[in-house]
Amino acid sequence: MGNRRENLKQAIFLMGQKAIVIEVVSALYESEPVGLKTQPDFYNIALKAATDLNADELLTAVQSIELDMGRIKAEKWGPRIIDIDILFYGSKIIKSKKLIVPHPEMTKRLFVLKPLVEIAPDFSHPATGLTAADMIRNGSFTEKVDCLGEFR
Ligand code: AMP
Repeated sequence: MGNRRENLKQAIFLMGQKAIVIEVVSALYESEPVGLKTQPDFYNIALKAATDLNADELLTAVQSIELDMGRIKAEKWGPRIIDIDILFYGSKIIKSKKLIVPHPEMTKRLFVLKPLVEIAPDFSHPATGLTAADMIRNGSFTEKVDCLGEFR
């Protein structure tokens, strides 16, 4: 919702303030909403970052950014200011009540896989051994995901 590019910039800025060091940023992608269609298209990027935070601390940090930015937990698939997901945490496999890593939905979402190919082309999913490009080839995607060029 709102100024989608600025919202992403603000989230990146706030990550920097929480000891999350951004190393690589993908291009900007625009994607059709999944589920509830009567809402604006989403802007998506993928980031690669380094941090001394453990996975739980990282989740707490990104959730506090979502809250600081005024994300209201409304409809599951509805419009939002920002949504930050942890796709991978190195090659760790985590299955706790509040955190599942690698993110279980990633294989189903072209708006995740397309930017992921860019920032981590050789990285393979620690459970399946598949790269993001493999996951795209294996999937059957119908949603439109457009690259809008460099994220600035
Ligand atoms: P979302 O609506 O996508 O922001 O989902 C947030 C919920 O997903 C939170 O309650 C988190 O505890 C949970 N969650 C589980 N695994 C992850 C993950 N890998 N990244 C972000 N949130 C996660």
